[in-house]
Amino acid sequence: MQQQDSTYDAIVVGGGPAGATAAHQLALKGHRVALLDRAGRIKPCGGAVPPQLLADFDVPRSILEAEISGARMISPTARTVDMPIPDGFVGMVDRGHFDEWLRSRSATAGAERITGSFVALGESDGELIEVEYRPGKQEGASKGQTHTLRARFVVGADGAHSRVGKQSVPCAARPNTVFAYHEIVETPEHVVAGDSPIDPMRCDVIYDGKLSPDFYSWVFPHGKTLSIGTGTAVNGFSIRSAVTTLRKDLGLESAPTVRTEGAPIPMKPLKRWDDGKHVLLCGDAAGVVAPASGEGIYYAMACGEVAADSVHQALLTHSAKPLCKARSRFLRKHGKVFLVLGVMQRFWYGSDKRRERFVTMCKDPDVQKLTWDSYLHKRIVWKDPMAHLRVFFKDVAHLLGLKRATD
Ligand SMILES: Cc1cc2nc3c(=O)[nH]c(=O)nc-3n(C[C@H](O)[C@H](O)[C@H](O)COP(=O)(O)OP(=O)(O)OC[C@H]3O[C@@H](n4cnc5c(N)ncnc54)[C@H](O)[C@@H]3O)c2cc1C
Repeated sequence: MQQQDSTYDAIVVGGGPAGATAAHQLALKGHRVALLDRAGRIKPCGGAVPPQLLADFDVPRSILEAEISGARMISPTARTVDMPIPDGFVGMVDRGHFDEWLRSRSATAGAERITGSFVALGESDGELIEVEYRPGKQEGASKGQTHTLRARFVVGADGAHSRVGKQSVPCAARPNTVFAYHEIVETPEHVVAGDSPIDPMRCDVIYDGKLSPDFYSWVFPHGKTLSIGTGTAVNGFSIRSAVTTLRKDLGLESAPTVRTEGAPIPMKPLKRWDDGKHVLLCGDAAGVVAPASGEGIYYAMACGEVAADSVHQALLTHSAKPLCKARSRFLRKHGKVFLVLGVMQRFWYGSDKRRERFVTMCKDPDVQKLTWDSYLHKRIVWKDPMAHLRVFFKDVAHLLGLKRATD
């Protein structure tokens, strides 16, 4: 039953980092925008973000739960390589708090927040398209009741396996994903006291085929809690058992568990993000997570910004053409990083022998510098092209087996 009939310039479906950023930018540009999000579920996520996110999207540093000073890479034979951050930190956000802060900011800028679940895209009269949604319980709707909104454009930011995408962009039906699962535990006293292999100021990244046959496992500290997780695209691999094993190995089996949860992580940008008429996908819905690292928050926000600008152009020109440029605009900036990380994941995560070599490579000061520059600042510094050449030759030497796995 239809109860409400409102017309917007744009409706953003999904209020995660991508959708909240898109709604915020569209509202700032003066458009009438609705942000539709189903409330009630905190996004499963390790919550690691680079400081560049704070700078690029005007997010206050006070939102961080913790600031991490380095990473430890751990090989299948338990060799460790420490990668201290020379000048900076990795931020840790609590997604319940962080996402809500982004949604409220969009509302302050003028976006209309609507709580409910997207159901379907409806009829289009050429100018406007319908969006049907089921209102949240708090909006006082009776069971099964749906409402319809109308807009000139719809931004699908409803995450991996996007419902908006499935109904509008054919290649969104089968995204390439890994499934990631983590357990959030209370940080035990002995970890805080330094009597543990875990350091509350360090992210541990574990490369071990028994914990993940094709991705990695992690321990990310968040102050009062730790995220302990793993990911894989292999059907039938038990990621719950892998996390149980990891917790046991780390002496964290009896740490009180706060939450256990999992979700897919897209591993490849979709070939197309728009339907040529009304709809543009962004964030996980468009597949923009960095391969190999699984870093998606920064890229979701960057994609939300590009999506908002494309919709803005489309509204100004009364044409859907700017929508189809969003993908190439985003990939022009981030495509090379995605390509390199994709090749890296396919090759180095392929077997324990290769994982062992990969961890060894991380000892190299040039590799560490390149890794931190590209992660923390989202840029590759070309000031020292010789360093890139050295990384390239060392990489090739490992690829060809000219160096021992532990060299
Ligand atoms: C276990 C795990 C660990 C991760 N760790 C990290 C990490 O440490 N660092 C990092 O950068 N990235 C990490 N990621 C990836 C990161 O979480 C995502 O890439 C990022 O959240 C994508 O943002 P988004 O806004 O595109 O989608 P999402 O964050 O998934 O947001 C989608 C939004 O859409 C809403 N929604 C969905 N369906 C509907 C519907 N039908 N109607 C209305 N609303 C709907 C949801 O409520 C949600 O608010 C991790 C992912 C997983 C699964």
